[in-house]
Amino acid sequence: MNPMVDYHIHTPLCGHALGEPYEYAEQAIKIGLKEIGFSDHAPFIKHPLPGITMTECELPVYHKRIERARGEYAGRLAIKIGVETDYIPSHEDETRQLLSGYSYDYVYGSVHFIGDWAFDSPDEREQWDHSDIDAVYKKYYELLRRAASSRLFDIMAHVDLVKKFGHRPKIDMNGDIRETARIFKESEVCIEINTSGLRKEVAEIYPALTVLKVYAEEKVPITFGSDSHMVQDVGKDFDLARKLAIEAGYREYVTFKDREIEQTLPL
Ligand code: ZN
Ligand code: FE
Ligand code: FE
Repeated sequence: MNPMVDYHIHTPLCGHALGEPYEYAEQAIKIGLKEIGFSDHAPFIKHPLPGITMTECELPVYHKRIERARGEYAGRLAIKIGVETDYIPSHEDETRQLLSGYSYDYVYGSVHFIGDWAFDSPDEREQWDHSDIDAVYKKYYELLRRAASSRLFDIMAHVDLVKKFGHRPKIDMNGDIRETARIFKESEVCIEINTSGLRKEVAEIYPALTVLKVYAEEKVPITFGSDSHMVQDVGKDFDLARKLAIEAGYREYVTFKDREIEQTLPL
């Protein structure tokens, strides 16, 4: 049995995803999911990022579209509303204010930026060639910890995204990973098992088994997400994600409602 929940789905409002909510819902039913959740890119807090995140004007449209789908699919498929929010240090207050404008079932916290560098963006990939990979990894994990400690978020997204293009550190990162997992536990955030890494150059789920084992040992709960930007990716590779979770030591995953854990379910 696959995990029954896919919480990481994007919509065309961010400017770079294709499926409409009802199309994702149809696909989810077709592949046997019982619940999905949308988590489109929240407006960037520093300045508009057209083609990458929604604008503030689009937020009410986003909520209306998901609400409508939720109503239409009631009884057939549970639909949750979330959002994927960039963690930008020193902008915690504005981020909190942005998130307080609407109600969500869960809020993802993402680290896609180190300073102004979108390290996972194909457009800014070249900067890796001029970067100290070890230092980038160190900084990435530090930002993950700060993000969780901010208490802005419920689920931390793709928690080893820094590996996306296949860059690997030379130094041992185990201490950083352990410390990050401990801070996550203390900050009461979950992590997601995100299958989109399999579709990227690194060709691995986020996070890797060795990383996931540390989160399992520190008892950080998990959810599942495909990071779909098109309909065919809903629930993709969830059989592998479930296997990975079990291999890492997990026996349960959680669902969310109104920014609280709703259910703890067996894998
Ligand atoms: Zn996206
Ligand atoms: Fe992301
Ligand atoms: Fe995403």
